[in-house]
Amino acid sequence: MPKLGYPANGLEPIISAETIEFHYGKHLQTYVTNLANLIKGTEFENREVEEIVAAAPDGGIFNNAGQVLNHTLYFTQFTTPGQGSLPQGRLAELIVRDFGSLDQLKRQMEEAAIGLFGSGWAWLSLSPEGRLLITRENNAGNPLRKGSKPLLCIDVWEHAYYIDYRNRRADHVKQLWEIIDWQAVADRL
Ligand code: MN
Repeated sequence: MPKLGYPANGLEPIISAETIEFHYGKHLQTYVTNLANLIKGTEFENREVEEIVAAAPDGGIFNNAGQVLNHTLYFTQFTTPGQGSLPQGRLAELIVRDFGSLDQLKRQMEEAAIGLFGSGWAWLSLSPEGRLLITRENNAGNPLRKGSKPLLCIDVWEHAYYIDYRNRRADHVKQLWEIIDWQAVADRL
């Protein structure tokens, strides 16, 4: 389990303590436990989770490893509302080069997240050619699988927002910018 850099109520009112207790404490814990059980005695037993996500065939090991990695990136990209700095340095330069502005990046990422049909993730990643990309991935998908470096993600499985926002996925997605820690995103770059 990744350690959180904030208390369970530290992301309120954007994400409630109750959602953290269920999403981090129960959903992610279940993926971690399932993965640990599934890899026992397999070639993946002592591999890093990124290696499992890149190499595992479609199926239970991939699904659980993908969800462990995706949620680790998700929960470690947040900070208390108002505490996140804006993108700096190389990240800021790439955002302007590839999207025109941070606002354009946000709109495209929101569109990817809101328009995704069913369960999955919207991703900002760095392509093998060095360009920032926004993509949609179904279920446990991660851009790592296609050779891109994952930088920022939005979870649009209903468990991510249903306690706080019910069916209002768009409201949830647009609120998330208040808690993004751009320094954490830059560190991944
Ligand atoms: Mn989730």
